Amino acid sequence: MPPSRVDVLILGGGLAGLRAALSCLSAAPKLRVAVVSLASVPSGSSFANRNDALGVHVCLNDSEREQYVREVQALNRGQAVLDARLLAIQAEEGAARLADLIGLGLPFERDERGALIPRSSCFSPDSRRAYVFKGLERAWGCFKARLDALGCLFVPGVLPVSVRGGREPGALLLPVGGGAAVPVRARAVVAALGGPARLFRHTMSGPGAPGYSHGLLAHAGADMANCGYLQYMWGTVPGKRFFQPGDWSGADPALAGARRGHCPFGYGLEDSAVDLALAAMMEQDGTVRLEEGRVAPMAHASNGGAVIDEWAQTRVQGLLACGECATGMHGANRIGGGMVLATQVFGHRAGTRAAELAQGSDGGRGPDWEAPVIDRAERIAGLRWLAKGLSRFAVLGGRPGHQEFLWDVRVRLETARDWRLRLSLRTGEFILDGLPGWL
Ligand SMILES: Cc1cc2nc3c(=O)[nH]c(=O)nc-3n(C[C@H](O)[C@H](O)[C@H](O)COP(=O)(O)OP(=O)(O)OC[C@H]3O[C@@H](n4cnc5c(N)ncnc54)[C@H](O)[C@@H]3O)c2cc1C
Repeated sequence: MPPSRVDVLILGGGLAGLRAALSCLSAAPKLRVAVVSLASVPSGSSFANRNDALGVHVCLNDSEREQYVREVQALNRGQAVLDARLLAIQAEEGAARLADLIGLGLPFERDERGALIPRSSCFSPDSRRAYVFKGLERAWGCFKARLDALGCLFVPGVLPVSVRGGREPGALLLPVGGGAAVPVRARAVVAALGGPARLFRHTMSGPGAPGYSHGLLAHAGADMANCGYLQYMWGTVPGKRFFQPGDWSGADPALAGARRGHCPFGYGLEDSAVDLALAAMMEQDGTVRLEEGRVAPMAHASNGGAVIDEWAQTRVQGLLACGECATGMHGANRIGGGMVLATQVFGHRAGTRAAELAQGSDGGRGPDWEAPVIDRAERIAGLRWLAKGLSRFAVLGGRPGHQEFLWDVRVRLETARDWRLRLSLRTGEFILDGLPGWL
């Protein structure tokens, strides 16, 4: 059972939530810090890569930092909201967070002399600023062991139904095994719930993240931005094996080579014409039939989320957000390794700031919560409908029919009763409403 009261409540046990918890407890070891997640094992996209590895993009000197900032700005094409302060912090603080990860014992690739191996990354093929760690379960274990030693409380098996900031921060948590929702009072709440990719029918995101974080944060009063800018990787159906559109026999030869230089679809990039030509052949189920087999653009990770300041605070006092559910540091096209970097840089800042807030507040009486409406049949049918529609109309910046689908989502929202379906529809609405709209 979740405790009724903690000092800092962290929603999500992916790389962002774990980092936030660690930095919070390092800053104030006496605080009661709880990390809430869906599963007791590694969960979320952070631990989902089938290659069992993740890259983190880190600038080690001024020249790398300047280059990184220039590349991120150029890749944005002036499209998405990009906060220069957050971008500078990300460039500046990556080295310290990399040192933290090494200190925790994460298994980074090294050469025979023991030096870290710098790799190139998606959207930045000429750079050598990405460092890869292998063995994701072991990486999770490194965080878990340190957090256990610091007395962090892990609360698996619950779903946040509602979150509040203001004078009385807290969350209402519903045990997945059944039973009534449990209110938890806190002095500060950090949302680290990952992105919405699980809401799509075709997705490569990790398990244990139901995908409604945008709806939850917006309901709590956070400003949202960039929600239409998801990354999509092409994968085989079935199998979800990676498919490179540059290898497609029908790809424009003039663009195919450039398209092989990055995995995700690129917003506003010339070579995205290859993806759009493929998507023009999409069938009702969101897949494309090719000689090579059936493939689909699979939602992978989002560049959108809650708008935060330098200390990962949303505009709601006492409610912070970090990792994939926060935005402003990437722009439209995220350089490879940039999200793991963001989980560590802004996870650290969220945890540090939450510790300060918790020490300066009594947390009030705790909010009053409304009991959630649960309608399983409505939810199952509604989520299936939403997943199909998102994979057909929202992918790659929007397909013909997305306006009508947005309208249908809004109509459904008016009558939907089930709490999780409502938050999911709201998240879908943010995605559809935030599409770049070039069609
Ligand atoms: C296959 C794959 C490969 C990737 N490779 C890279 C890479 O190499 N480099 C890079 O920078 N990025 C990469 N990314 C993106 C990056 O890994 C993720 O965006 C990032 O790890 C997200 O971290 P997070 O902590 O914000 O969210 P997540 O890791 O998704 O964690 C979310 C947490 O919240 C919990 N949660 C969510 N919703 C609920 C709920 N409703 N109730 C209870 N608990 C909930 C989950 O259980 C989980 O613990 C990759 C993504 C994928 C899918």
